[in-house]
Amino acid sequence: MRKPFIAGNWKMNLERKSALGLVAQLRERVGQRADIEVAVCPPFVYLDAVVQALNGSPIKVGAQNCCDETSGAFTGEISASMLIDIGCDLVILGHSERRQIYGETSELVNSKVHTALDAGLEVILCVGETRAEREEQRTEKVVGAQLVAGLSGIDGRSMQRVTIAYEPVWAIGTGLNATPDQAGAVHSYLRGVLGGLYSDSIAESVRIQYGGSVKPSNVRELMAVPHIDGCLVGGASLTADSFISLLEFR
Ligand code: PEP
Repeated sequence: MRKPFIAGNWKMNLERKSALGLVAQLRERVGQRADIEVAVCPPFVYLDAVVQALNGSPIKVGAQNCCDETSGAFTGEISASMLIDIGCDLVILGHSERRQIYGETSELVNSKVHTALDAGLEVILCVGETRAEREEQRTEKVVGAQLVAGLSGIDGRSMQRVTIAYEPVWAIGTGLNATPDQAGAVHSYLRGVLGGLYSDSIAESVRIQYGGSVKPSNVRELMAVPHIDGCLVGGASLTADSFISLLEFR
């Protein structure tokens, strides 16, 4: 049985005061939920303070990126072991904003997945097609290739610490979410690809989140789809009221 996993990706939003106010409310209002896994992913500079604020709470803390190198002369980068050092649990890798704006290739994403897992982090690995790719009916080809490349060389045992996030690029921050049928078809396809890469039992154990304009008004219908095991949420994770109402999907 896959425990639902809902993670908030704050992107480059909030400030120290609003970030700490948000996590204080989350801690108080959802800190006791044992039926779902919850994570927040603040910008790097607030990670330490958020880890401290959530100390002793089951709410996990993640970064939104990390370097593929372990240490050294990489100005401006943050290593996976630094994230472990300050108490982070996980890292989001391969987000479409990293791929599209910063030119991250699937090979680089794969290198980061290795570095993050080796350091002891959990990973949320994002895959997703653009609107043009969907219109050209290349969705499965694109997300399948991103998945296979992103997981290249990752062994089955490590997959216990990997969550996949299917995030159609055309649905991120646009208010346009994939329909439950559209998302369900891709999730089911991705699970099949995982089965081919590993085994049916590993594929059945890996959680696949949906991301792309998830909000309180659509979370219930998305979470009712069999292969949707959680959500990666941007805009609706920025206030306690909207994020907490997402967690009330059942
Ligand atoms: C995201 O940032 O991963 C995301 C899905 O954003 P939004 O929920 O705002 O579409």
